[in-house]
Amino acid sequence: MTHEAGIPLGIRFRLLSDTPRDAAAQVVNDVVVGDYRDLDTLRAFARGCDVITFDHEHVPTEHLRALEADGVPVRPGPGALVHAQDKGVMRARLTALGIPCPRHRVVADPADVRRFAEDDEGAVGFPVVLKTTRGGYDGKGVWVIRSAAEAASTTAPFLAGVPVLAEEKVDFTRELAANVVRSPHGQAVAYPVVESIQVDGVCDTVIAPAPGLPHDLSVAAQRLALTIARELDVTGHLAVELFETADGRVLVNELAMRPHNSGHWTQDGAVTSQFANHLRAVLDLPLGDPRPRAPWTVMANVLGGDAPDMYQGYLHCMARDPRLKIHMYGKDVKPGRKVGHVTTFGEDLAEVRDRARHAADYLRGIIDE
Ligand code: ADP
Repeated sequence: MTHEAGIPLGIRFRLLSDTPRDAAAQVVNDVVVGDYRDLDTLRAFARGCDVITFDHEHVPTEHLRALEADGVPVRPGPGALVHAQDKGVMRARLTALGIPCPRHRVVADPADVRRFAEDDEGAVGFPVVLKTTRGGYDGKGVWVIRSAAEAASTTAPFLAGVPVLAEEKVDFTRELAANVVRSPHGQAVAYPVVESIQVDGVCDTVIAPAPGLPHDLSVAAQRLALTIARELDVTGHLAVELFETADGRVLVNELAMRPHNSGHWTQDGAVTSQFANHLRAVLDLPLGDPRPRAPWTVMANVLGGDAPDMYQGYLHCMARDPRLKIHMYGKDVKPGRKVGHVTTFGEDLAEVRDRARHAADYLRGIIDE
């Protein structure tokens, strides 16, 4: 989708892809198939590129430092990206900056989890949330531990060989995301704060702007995201995932430094999409207007269902809702896998939301009328 944003600007991409079947590899014409964990592969790939950016955060930090030392512009740079790669580093840095986060501590073993919950100063009590500090996504790498007995028998988080972060389980009212974009010379724009609805740890629906969010809190969340972008020297799109609490606060859950699912609505719902602005930022071009085009835009992810042929649903969905936009990723359909998303927009939130839900469910094959 970032490539799509580059087409009208004549910006050419070279893609490093795990396999020739990856979604982006199907549309970019200059594809190198290789392992992003291998420094020699990265070095050979980087030769001839003006700038390197990412659509995931898993390229090892030390390899990115090596590329930078070779003189390759890496945006966002490894010094910023490490905060999206490592939840332990992120929590320590944000806390030092005075940014509100859930109470947390790196834990060494199951006994330490119990100490964090029950013995530490200001102990948080059960339940607690355990997270692998690196490598998790879509809720994989997150465990909720409900009691001391459960903590004692919990070994899975400690088997991955990376530090484990324990956090208080925040009693949030909903999840929000503040998306901002920042360029190397410091220009920044903020999108409206959105509500992000998760199902089974996977983002399901995003509503822009977040319904009923008090103006003050919305501005505070945007400011917080802009502060993080500046302090961490982020280049490109930064998504700050937030918990909203009943007492009118926001706490940071995690960061992503690339176009993010919580910003997909901008493709059709904002004057300049997150993809176009990420690209502009990475190239240090002036950023585009982040304002919404309609009072409400809703994005719903399309998950794979039992129907292997997702195209069958197009006729019905397009005929039913001429304002619907469908974005499919060309991925093989597997049950529960994110294979695309839809966006709709309009004046009435309930109606816009219903149109998005209907299309996502129809394309998945769980409704047929
Ligand atoms: P991932 O990197 O896999 O997306 P997250 O850290 O975003 O993992 O956690 C996935 C989901 O788990 C969140 O969207 C949220 O619903 C829930 N969650 C994570 N941390 C906490 C927490 N400290 N308190 C309550 N819920 C949490």
